[in-house]
Amino acid sequence: MGLLALGTALEWAEAKKKAAQVREWGIEQLLANWRRAKGKERDALLWGDEVEYLVVAVDSEAKKARLSLAQAEILKSLARDEALWKAGNGGQDHSMEHDGEALPHFHPEFGRFMLEATPGRPWGIDFKDLLKVESNMKWRREIAKAHMAPNEYPITLTTFPRLGTRDDFIVPYYPPSGAALRSQFVPDEIANPHIRFPTLAANIRSRRGRKVEINVPIFKDTNTPVPFKDPTVDYDLHLWPEDDDVRNGAAKADHVYMDAMAFGMGSCCLQITFQAKNMTEGRKLYDQLSPLGPILLALTAATPIYKGFLVDTDVRWNQIGLSVDDRTREELGEAPLENDRWRIPKSRYASNSTYISQDPRLREEYLDPNLVVDEKIKKRLMDEGMDELLATHFAHLFIRDPLVIFSEDLDELDLSKGDHFENLQSTNWQHMRFKPPPPEKDDIGWRVEFRSMEIQMTDFENAAFSIFIVLITRAILSFDLNFYIPIALTTENMETAHARDSLLNRKFYFRKDPFTRTAPKQALRSVNGNGSNFSSTASSAVNTPPPSPPLGPVELEYDLMTIADIVNGSADGSFPGLIPLVESYLNSVKVDVETRCALARYLDLIRKRADGTLWTGAHWIRDFVAKHPAYQHDSVVSSEICYDLVRAVEEITEKEGRGGSFGWELLTGKNL
Ligand code: ADP
Ligand code: MG
Ligand code: MG
Ligand code: MG
Ligand code: MG
Ligand code: MG
Repeated sequence: MGLLALGTALEWAEAKKKAAQVREWGIEQLLANWRRAKGKERDALLWGDEVEYLVVAVDSEAKKARLSLAQAEILKSLARDEALWKAGNGGQDHSMEHDGEALPHFHPEFGRFMLEATPGRPWGIDFKDLLKVESNMKWRREIAKAHMAPNEYPITLTTFPRLGTRDDFIVPYYPPSGAALRSQFVPDEIANPHIRFPTLAANIRSRRGRKVEINVPIFKDTNTPVPFKDPTVDYDLHLWPEDDDVRNGAAKADHVYMDAMAFGMGSCCLQITFQAKNMTEGRKLYDQLSPLGPILLALTAATPIYKGFLVDTDVRWNQIGLSVDDRTREELGEAPLENDRWRIPKSRYASNSTYISQDPRLREEYLDPNLVVDEKIKKRLMDEGMDELLATHFAHLFIRDPLVIFSEDLDELDLSKGDHFENLQSTNWQHMRFKPPPPEKDDIGWRVEFRSMEIQMTDFENAAFSIFIVLITRAILSFDLNFYIPIALTTENMETAHARDSLLNRKFYFRKDPFTRTAPKQALRSVNGNGSNFSSTASSAVNTPPPSPPLGPVELEYDLMTIADIVNGSADGSFPGLIPLVESYLNSVKVDVETRCALARYLDLIRKRADGTLWTGAHWIRDFVAKHPAYQHDSVVSSEICYDLVRAVEEITEKEGRGGSFGWELLTGKNL
């Protein structure tokens, strides 16, 4: 979650007074860094994935699965071994040897029951690197497991099915509630104790003026009470002023109600970061990957359960958005604007609202006409020479307040650092992130992060989606693909992706012709293997575009399509399909047969998931619950069902780790 400084964290009343200063200093740091780094060229094409785990403790006697709050101990143990490893004394366990690859990095996350793991070194441009991802992910899981208690497991479910129930769902047990979260469902001890995290949660709540409010529609099964009234809500608590929230209508009928950051930021996801060769390429990737965000969210859907209930949505995204939504009633439009500066249509965790590429194909009509920007900041950036698109992007991110401020950092502005800039940047959790080079490190370039995907239960799936996105970026650059649609439609697609089985039942806005206003389709054929790997210079093989035809109405450029059409191509040929585009790209560069076959396994997963042959994780979990003998068809996911679900998921990954089934049984939806 961005950088972790140490010091005295200000409570909201104090932080609010310093907000303008932090923003101003953040913008000056951005300008200094942008001046330094805007001309950076020929950075290597690197990329890296981030995988997040839940730490689950299994009690096989009591048949209970609980979240383990062991993050700190596990990270300490990992660090001890890493020190031994670096000193050349080997680690304590055999798993420290792995095909000469660098030891993976483990990071803390918001939940004290979470871990994040990244490869020890970012991946390079060689195709062979793609084939290392799956085994590296399995290695990470093995290392994580080696530093846990024998009954603890790293599980890649997005959310723990019984987080926030009245049950003892955490170990060690702490009762709700606490001063930071003031939740009636989870104790403060559920969050990482580093001062940054409780401060973040408390200041979001204080700024907002009440607890965060997460209502997820219940999945209505045959025995679900009508209307459904969340039975876990307590209307008679009088410990904190915030206990009034439910008496004031915070919990909605026919919804599962949650009231704390942990219900959202306690979710696991799969993120991919790409380094571009220069800023221009980074800005292009940011724009072109943006419309893919909701498509990949739908494809990776894995979140059908909250707080012990089946819900009517399949993904985590909006719940995270609501869990960190610090907007006041004025900003939300629920009260007249008196003290705040503007109404803000989205949470600070939400889909993107800006395009930033200086691309002649970016039409005015694609931009958000109602974008909220801080005009003063925009002017400052433009006065210093930043172009309007990029200035608008940052002036939009900087409409937010900084949430965690350390008083020690306010003594002096250090233009060689990026801490104040990162304060705002890293708490704008959008589905794409444009990452400037860190001022402290000269060897890192402009990067773009793709953030919408849900973590998958198996590493085969996690590797497949990572590899797919990497190959898409290669195809985008190589063929100069154009996926632009009006950005408001990406926002709408993000909502669509929440629907149960959206990939089978819904349509998404997508651009019909990805070759418009670039070299005509022949460009596809003109790119012929001039390199043994997918170096970004492949893009230079694209012909100079012919004179552009006159522009037609924007509405003719896109259509509502199924995920199957978007991924595999439409039957009438109106859209070629992402997988065929990737295949064309692979045909255009030299890939040996072995590598091509290995990649085909991953692409096959994407293809078959898109056409419905293989299930999403969400679909598989729903099926598992529905078929469980203890399930009463009342939407309740009991402790017993949760235990069996966690065991089943754990067994699949263990089998997979031993090189067995690759989780295919899981993916096809066959019961084990
Ligand atoms: P954050 O949590 O801020 O998104 P992390 O440091 O956790 O960032 O990880 C981002 C990913 O980026 C990791 O997989 C890492 O290997 C990868 N990475 C690191 N350096 C680079 C780089 N220069 N270019 C591309 N990817 C990188
Ligand atoms: Mg992170
Ligand atoms: Mg981070
Ligand atoms: Mg990270
Ligand atoms: Mg993370
Ligand atoms: Mg990240």
